Formats: sequence, structure tokens, C-alpha cells
Amino acid sequence: MPSKRFELVFADKTGKVFNFPGLRPAGMKAGMLFELEDAPLVRLPDSSELFMLPDRMPVGFDPETGKQVTLDMDPYSKQAEPCFAVAAFVPPGYTLTHNAAYRQLADDARALPLFAYGACLYSEGHFYVAAVRVDHDVRHDDKYLAPRSVLKGVAEVKKLFPKNRLVTQLETCATVNGCANAKNFFLGRIEAPVPTSPVCNAQCQGCISLQPENRDFPSTQKRISFKPDPEEIAELALHHFTNEKNPVVSFGQGCEGEPTLAVDVIEKAIRLIRKQTSKGFINVNSNASRPQALGRLFDAGLTHVRVSLNSVRDPYYSRYYQPKGYSFADVTESVRTAKRHQGFVSLNYLSMPGFTDSREESDALVQFVGGTGVDMIQWRNLNYDPIRYFRELGLEGARPELLGMENAIDRVRKAFPAMRCGYFNPRPGTRPASQANKNLV
Ligand code: SF4
Repeated sequence: MPSKRFELVFADKTGKVFNFPGLRPAGMKAGMLFELEDAPLVRLPDSSELFMLPDRMPVGFDPETGKQVTLDMDPYSKQAEPCFAVAAFVPPGYTLTHNAAYRQLADDARALPLFAYGACLYSEGHFYVAAVRVDHDVRHDDKYLAPRSVLKGVAEVKKLFPKNRLVTQLETCATVNGCANAKNFFLGRIEAPVPTSPVCNAQCQGCISLQPENRDFPSTQKRISFKPDPEEIAELALHHFTNEKNPVVSFGQGCEGEPTLAVDVIEKAIRLIRKQTSKGFINVNSNASRPQALGRLFDAGLTHVRVSLNSVRDPYYSRYYQPKGYSFADVTESVRTAKRHQGFVSLNYLSMPGFTDSREESDALVQFVGGTGVDMIQWRNLNYDPIRYFRELGLEGARPELLGMENAIDRVRKAFPAMRCGYFNPRPGTRPASQANKNLV
């Protein structure tokens, strides 16, 4: 969009959002500021949200001098009143290329809660975000998840399975926590979630289901407090398999710990399901810390695994995941185990502009994919405070060579043309994402 003139966006002290033509907008990566003129920009997608960032002042560029300017006062207020940076939170399917640009009022600024913070800008009546679209699947699109239909589905499923504790769990997920996968289960649509594990063997800095009490931000979900029986799991999965022509059921959800720690029940449940049907995909979203457990699940009938990681480099993986009793070598071994079982392996590649698109990380990713035969990369936004992330990784003040997120994605796409790129787990009956996405970035 070369001819458009973009303007900075800020919030006043009440949270009202304004555009400000006096400054050109900036994006941030690894604490550095960038012009957004040549960045990939998309009109703010439906279902996006705008966040006002407390304790953080917006930063832009002076259109005359090109110098960085911190907007430390509300330019539209007659009194000297503060103003705040604004970030865009985008729906699944879009990968951020730049974070919102801001300067913290103090080093001890309140931590940002567990969301992703995209650079937001304005032009001619519309908001834009620095992002690329990597997936067109409408799986989580609010348009298809009407609350009334979800509630109807909840009532029907509860009547069918009044004693199934997983149904009660998913009811809360769908109606209180707004989980799109849980809503889809009650709508008999695409991918159904199966949370199973109340415990984990990692302590991710940005774990959304459990944070230590002394942390200065909360987890965004409550972790499941029980381990369901294999029969409860199979009942729910088989119900979904009868409702959806091309179904997926997925272990490993945002409201649980690590599913391979519940291998005993999941293995039995998969065998119960596979006794009844060979249709559909059975997937596990995992930290992939336990290759042997994963092997058992594939032997039972698992078809897909999605391996979550923020980095394919051990030190940065370990600083973020804080693994307990396993190491990054086990993650790599899990990928190999899955491939030996003819399983489909996705990476849930938790991306942060400035880290994921650094030359070093990109080189390491090409090597990792080439060495393991990963089938798909899901370029998902990491929900974490963008300044604090670099501090946690020991990279504060680092000035990495940056390729640009769109180029980092393109690079692996070109290096491995048969590999899929996207955002969602594959489902039966869809064409390969590598073809579907050819012209998206
Ligand atoms: S692996 Fe998942 S459940 Fe475990 S700490 Fe990390 S985010 Fe939380």
C-alpha cells in the first residue's frame, strides 16, 4: 500500500483511541523501532481488539526530520494529560511482523498480560496492523460461533452425557472462557478439544493455564483439575466424529498441562476410539518432552502431533520453557519418533517479531526442519510482553540481524516446498496449506 499516508494511533487516559497525523507510526522488534512504510500491513481483521498499554507512551517518527519522537502528552488535551500506546490483538490466522512501539514510563512498568501486541496504525478511516495472513481457515471465526447455537449444543450434549465430567469442563470453556475449540465441539464443527492433564513438566514464562503465585500477571485460563477416564474421552470424541464429516479431536489444550503426562488414559481412550472408527484425525498438542509416551500414542492410533516451542535453539527454548526433567534433545527426539510412526508433525512455532525473524533463529529453523522432516509450521503469535520476552531470554539490548517475519516465513516455504505453513491443525479433506497459502505473504 505505497500511496497511503499512515498515522500514529494512541489512547487518551480514558482509553479512547485516536489517530494523530503529527507523527508517522512505528513498529517495534527486539526493543528497536522501525518505520512501517514497507512493512506488510493488513486492514484490522474482524474479531481483532485494540489494547491501551498502561505505563507505556506511544513512539513514532517526525514526518519532517525522520527522528523518533515519544508522545508523552495527549496532543488533543488542553491540560497536560498523559496518553498511552495502543496495540492490536489479531485473531488466529494472522502472524504479527512488528509489535506496537512504545517507551515504558519506568523500568518497573506493570507487566503486560498474556496477549500478543501488534503494531497498529491508521489511514483514511481504517485501522491497520503489521501482520501477514498465513491461514484462511474459518475455524475460529466468530461469525460461525453464534452464542445461541453454542448454548443449544451445550444443552443437547449435556442431555446425552449427563455424567461425563469432560462435557462439564468444556461447557465452562465454551460459555465462560470463550474457547473457540470448545464452542466448535458443541456445534459439531471441525476440531474438538480434549483436555486431560492437570500437571506439566515445564514452566513456560507465558503459560496460559498456570502461573506461580508471585508472578505479576495472571494466567488467562484455569487449568483442568482432574484427569478424565478413557471412557469419558472416547464418548466425547466419538460423539464429535458422528457430528462432523471431517473431524479432528485434539489433546493438549490451553486449559491443561502436558498431555503426554496423562499417557495412560489417552492411550486407552485412543484405542477405544479406534475400535469404533478409523475416520478423522486424532492430534496431540504437546511440549514433546516424552518421546516414548508419544510413541505409545501413535501405536494406539494417534495421527498428528503439534510440537510447541518458542525457539529451535536450546538455550532460548530452555529459558522460556524452563523444562523439568527433560531437555530440548527430547523435543527433537519426539519429532523423530513421530516421523518413524508415519505421524504428521506440526510445529506450534510461538513467534515474536525480532526473535523469530532473526538470522540466527531462521538459520536454526531451516536446519531443524531439514534434519527432522517437520510437515507443517504453524506461525502462531506468542502471547507475552514484547520487552520482557527479550529480557527473559537474556537478549536485552541485543541487536540481531533481522530478516523480517514475512521473509523468514517465505524462506522456509521456499526451502521446503512440500511443507505446509499455516496457523491451524490440519483437518481431513482440505487441500495442502502450502498450496492454499501460496500468495498470502
Ligand atoms: S508446556 Fe504448556 S502447560 Fe506446560 S508450562 Fe508450557 S504452556 Fe504451560
